[in-house]
Amino acid sequence: MPYSIMLDAGHGGRDPGAVYNGRQEKDDALALTLAIGEILQDRGVNVEYTRTTDVYESPYQKAMEANNAGVDFFISIHRNSYPTDNTVSGVESLVYDKSGLKLKMAENINEQLESIGFVNLGVKERPGLVVLRRTKMPAVLVEVGFINSDTDNRLFDDNFEDIALAIAEGILDTLQMSGEISSMSSGYTVQTGSFRNPQNAERLTAELKEQDFPAGIAEGDGFFRVTVGAYPTLDEAAAMEQKLRRAGYQTLVVSR
Ligand SMILES: [Zn+2]
Repeated sequence: MPYSIMLDAGHGGRDPGAVYNGRQEKDDALALTLAIGEILQDRGVNVEYTRTTDVYESPYQKAMEANNAGVDFFISIHRNSYPTDNTVSGVESLVYDKSGLKLKMAENINEQLESIGFVNLGVKERPGLVVLRRTKMPAVLVEVGFINSDTDNRLFDDNFEDIALAIAEGILDTLQMSGEISSMSSGYTVQTGSFRNPQNAERLTAELKEQDFPAGIAEGDGFFRVTVGAYPTLDEAAAMEQKLRRAGYQTLVVSR
């Protein structure tokens, strides 16, 4: 199933965002957002936009639009600014908190942009931002360089297409990861032994069962593997692994 993503060009209409020597954040954001969307669409992602023209919508409206559309991800494109001109440069990505796929996506996007030549200022938590707080799906706000940094503006203008591609790649890398995770839908188990001789596997299984571990034998490739439990998440498998290790067993979490 293709992924869907809501791309949000920051600001718009009566809200220009940051301004530097007549250059307005809302224009850079819109141009870049449309370029990113085109690449993602070509790569099979369902792309929706909060705006494709110079109109104003509140951050709350944008978040609700994404929620109502039921998209898988929300990406907001901005340019940064610093109180004094030409002091700071670089890219940073903002997330509600540093966990899950949104963190991975933010890191991937930053790394991609770093390869263009931007300083990587990292991922920051901004739980107060409405588009991060009110969206129900993983959301990332990317600050694509400082609009009041001549260095960043030069990078932005000279590498515009590459920047769009970099952000798209950062998003696509993460979607691919997410797909790989969900394709392991059969979950995880904790392997405690692997034997050529089935009797050894049976002995270990019996010993584990005596201690109330839900052990079983899986046969394959000429091996009899003793596994404990079946868990939908890595966390749960890791918890069982801890118990087994405390009981003195050698363990390995494997996908089923
Ligand atoms: Zn902004």
